[in-house]
Amino acid sequence: MSQRPDVIVIGGGIGGLSAAAALSRKGIRVRLYERSSAFGEVGAGLQIGPNCTRILNEYGLLEEAISLGVLPEAMIMKDAIDGSELTRLDLLDLERTYGFPYMVIHRSDLHGLFLRACQRLGIELVTDRQCVDYTQIDGDGEGLGRGARVTFADGSTDSAELVIAADGLHSVARVKLVADEPVNSSYVAYRAAIPFEAVRENQVHEKDVVLYVGPRCHFVQYPLRGGEMLNQVAVFQSPRAVAGQDDWGTPDELDQAFVGMCEQVQKGLPLMWRDRWWRMFDRNPIMNWVFGRVALLGDAAHPPLQYMAQGAIMAIEDGWVLAEHVGAQQAVRSETSSGVDWDTALAAYNAVRPEHCRRVLTTGRAWGELWHLDGVQRLQRNAILRARDTYDHAFTEWIYGPTALTPEQEPPLYTTIPLDSVTVAAGPV
Ligand SMILES: Cc1cc2nc3c(=O)[nH]c(=O)nc-3n(C[C@H](O)[C@H](O)[C@H](O)COP(=O)(O)OP(=O)(O)OC[C@H]3O[C@@H](n4cnc5c(N)ncnc54)[C@H](O)[C@@H]3O)c2cc1C
Repeated sequence: MSQRPDVIVIGGGIGGLSAAAALSRKGIRVRLYERSSAFGEVGAGLQIGPNCTRILNEYGLLEEAISLGVLPEAMIMKDAIDGSELTRLDLLDLERTYGFPYMVIHRSDLHGLFLRACQRLGIELVTDRQCVDYTQIDGDGEGLGRGARVTFADGSTDSAELVIAADGLHSVARVKLVADEPVNSSYVAYRAAIPFEAVRENQVHEKDVVLYVGPRCHFVQYPLRGGEMLNQVAVFQSPRAVAGQDDWGTPDELDQAFVGMCEQVQKGLPLMWRDRWWRMFDRNPIMNWVFGRVALLGDAAHPPLQYMAQGAIMAIEDGWVLAEHVGAQQAVRSETSSGVDWDTALAAYNAVRPEHCRRVLTTGRAWGELWHLDGVQRLQRNAILRARDTYDHAFTEWIYGPTALTPEQEPPLYTTIPLDSVTVAAGPV
C-alpha cells in the first residue's frame, strides 16, 4: 500500500465507487475496501433520472453511459388488469425541461463505468477486506490528528481523516448511530434481462419504460444495452412473507400473484429468472448520518423501496454533494494534512442529504401503496392518473431538478394524490 489516504471508503457498490471518484476529482487521496473477492453487481436494469445524468455529465461519464444504455422516449403507466394506459411521462420533454436525459442502463454497466473511472483516477481499490468496526481517533499519535480507524475481519486496520461507510443495507457503521433493523415490506422482486429477439413477437414497447400496476403487484419492462436486451421486473406481495414463513417468494407465488393480469404481463412472466428472487426491504429514515469522522452514504444511510427508482441515484448524489462541500472547504483552512476542514464539510452534507432522502424514502412507500391498490381505490387512482396532463412536471420537480447543496435549495415536496377527491361510478371493480 502507498502512503496513508485522506479518505477510506468501505464498500465497492455504486455508492462507494462514485463517492471515491467524486472525492478523487477534488484531489483527495482515496482508498476503497470491498469485502467481496471481485468488484461486481448482481441484478439487471437501473433507471437513471436527469438528477443523476446531470452528475454523470459533470464527471465526464455521460457519453459513455449513454453508449452503454438506452434513452427511452416515454415512461408509461398502465393498469395491470386491463392493460389500459393511465398516464405517461414524455421523457424527451423531461430532458428539455431539466437539461439532461432520462436513461436506462444495466446495473453492471453503471458499476463498471464508475470502477473504470476510479482506476483512471488512481484510487487504491482493495478487495477481500470485510470491515467489522469503526473507531474514532482523537489525535492519538498515529500522526493523523483527528480521524477514524477501520478494523477488518482478518484483524488488520487502516485509518484516515475521514471514513465513508458505503456498506449497503446491512451497514456495520449504521449500528453505531442507530439500533434499527431493515423494514420488511413483504414484497418480493423477480428480475430478468433477456435478448430482445426473444420477445419481439410479444408487442413489447421497444423505446419506452412501461409499468403495469395491479393489486398487490406490479410489472416493469424497458430496453437495455442499445435495445439488444429487455429488462423485466415483477414485484408482488408474498402471502408467505405476510404470514411470517421462511419459504416466501417461490415461483408458484409469483405465478399466483399475477393471475388475472393482462396479456402483456402474462407473456412476460415465463421469462423471469426463476432461480433467484429478492425480498424488498427499506429502513426508516434517520436524520443524522455522521458520527465523528465517519459518514454514512448510499443504502447504508437510506435504503429505499425501489418504487421511485432513486436508490442508486441518491447514493451518487450523496458523493457529489459531499465532494462539493469538501471542495468548498479545501480553500478555507489547512489544519489537516489533506488541507480540508472535514467537520464543516460533513456538517454541510448532513444538513442537506438526510432530509432529501427522507422525502424519497417516505414518498417511495406512498407510491408503492398507490400502485398496489385494489377495488374502488384502484378505480379512483386510475381516474386521477388519466386526468393528469402528460406535460405537468409538478410532481417530479423536486426529484429531477438539480441536486440541492443546501437545505434552502431543496424544492418543496409534491404531496400525495387525494384519492377521496374522486367519485367512481358504481359497478364491478
Ligand atoms: C428491484 C430493485 C430495483 C431498483 N431499481 C433502481 C433504479 O431503477 N434506480 C435506482 O437509482 N436505484 C434502484 N434500486 C436501488 C439501488 O440498487 C440501490 O439503492 C443501490 O445499488 C445502493 O448502492 P450502494 O453502493 O449504496 O449499496 P450496495 O449496492 O449494497 O453496495 C454495498 C457494497 O459494500 C460491500 N460491503 C458491505 N458490507 C461490507 C463490509 N462490512 N466491508 C466491506 N465491504 C462491504 C458490498 O459487498 C457491496 O459491494 C433498485 C433496487 C432494487 C432492489
